[in-house]
Amino acid sequence: MSRFRTFPKGGIHPQDYKEATCNKEIQNASLSSIAVVPLSQHIGAPCECLVKKGDLVEEEQVIGKAGGFVSANIHSPVPGEVKEIKKIFLPNGIAVDAVVIEMQGEFKRLGKETTPADWNSMSNEEIAAKISEMGIVGQGGATFPTHVKLSLPKGKVCETFIINAVECEPYLTSDHRVMLEKADEVLEGIKIVQRLLNPGKTVIGIEANKMDAVEHLQSLISTKGYDMEVMPLEVKYPQGAEKNLIKAVTGKEVPSGQLPLEVGVINANVGTCLSIYEAVVFSKPVIERIVTVSGGAIKNPSNLKARVGTSFRTLIEDCGGFSEEPVKVIAGGPMMGFTVYDLDTPVTKGTSGILALTAKEIKAAKPTACLSCGRCISACPMGLNPTKIYKYVDFNMSDEAAAAGLMDCVECGSCSFMCPAHIPLVQGFRGGKKVIRKNSMKKAGK
Ligand code: SF4
Ligand code: SF4
Repeated sequence: MSRFRTFPKGGIHPQDYKEATCNKEIQNASLSSIAVVPLSQHIGAPCECLVKKGDLVEEEQVIGKAGGFVSANIHSPVPGEVKEIKKIFLPNGIAVDAVVIEMQGEFKRLGKETTPADWNSMSNEEIAAKISEMGIVGQGGATFPTHVKLSLPKGKVCETFIINAVECEPYLTSDHRVMLEKADEVLEGIKIVQRLLNPGKTVIGIEANKMDAVEHLQSLISTKGYDMEVMPLEVKYPQGAEKNLIKAVTGKEVPSGQLPLEVGVINANVGTCLSIYEAVVFSKPVIERIVTVSGGAIKNPSNLKARVGTSFRTLIEDCGGFSEEPVKVIAGGPMMGFTVYDLDTPVTKGTSGILALTAKEIKAAKPTACLSCGRCISACPMGLNPTKIYKYVDFNMSDEAAAAGLMDCVECGSCSFMCPAHIPLVQGFRGGKKVIRKNSMKKAGK
């Protein structure tokens, strides 16, 4: 039995392939001459476009204004001329408008010294406004606008603030590198959030395969006397899924369909805490992020600091290109990521990884009939019966699928990973959820 805490139901142990990048320092990615900046890089309303063809924009200029409270501003990652506004498809298959900027002119921040602001002298309102203005979204993949997450509704109390530094997806190491290379800034970001939320307790959850990061943060926290603790967690996928992390850290279960705040928890990804620090102290919007570029088909796997809007192709070339033709390119991790068919796909605020995988890594095989082996049931961290739900989805029985818990599925992919019949369970669940959402919007007359 592991000496570390974890979630109790299901979970799997895929090979983690992190050794390719976890010991490599973050490098700057090249800037592509054309930046393609989607106007929706978050959960919530798309941004309202503030520019048109022919406009000259500055680095960090707001080009997309948040389209509502649950939305996040989008800033130009480079100075240049707007060449067009066009429709593109994001890796998750959603079509969005994107501003195409040809890079030209002077950079406002790049390569220049900036004076830090003293956030201790700022009011909570000023800090919250900065976080909102700078377009911060959850960087662990969920891309939920951070200013919304940090707005405590009246009467609600944050008992525990959890920093998600688990990074349980195989291959991905960007959060790991951030904790090693940007620890001071991350801790300062956490302190800023502590000021806003006044939590009873602050816990940084890290999987125990990153003990160098655990020790580094622990030593800094004790030297600085900060009121927060680092909790190493068992290495088990999907330890980083929100509800699993909360269960592991607090022992509390977030009820079906409810938010973590129902059990007194707010959580934020470790990269998000870095962005909060940069936004509040340096007024820096989210125009870049750390991306792990890895997989057996990448010549020199790396962690790159890349501007939003830079093409996947540019980052892959920065890593020496392909060592062999990949069978699949994925945006994100191999378990929850999306297959990408166009290397001109741009980096967005939510791009944690770009993986180019070989046939050996994918072990692709044609699906066969269900063997009723029950492995998917044992693997599911949400206690669902994936084979049953899949059958409902397959037969378009949406109501039955919903009653069996489809909307509680966190799309972690553990069931698909374990299925000896290679049934594309999680793809089926994504499709099934779309149908349920469409139906409920229809019913609501939207
Ligand atoms: S993808 Fe959904 S059904 Fe499958 S294991 Fe994860 S939570 Fe369970
Ligand atoms: S793991 Fe695959 S084969 Fe086994 S019960 Fe689940 S769906 Fe059927």
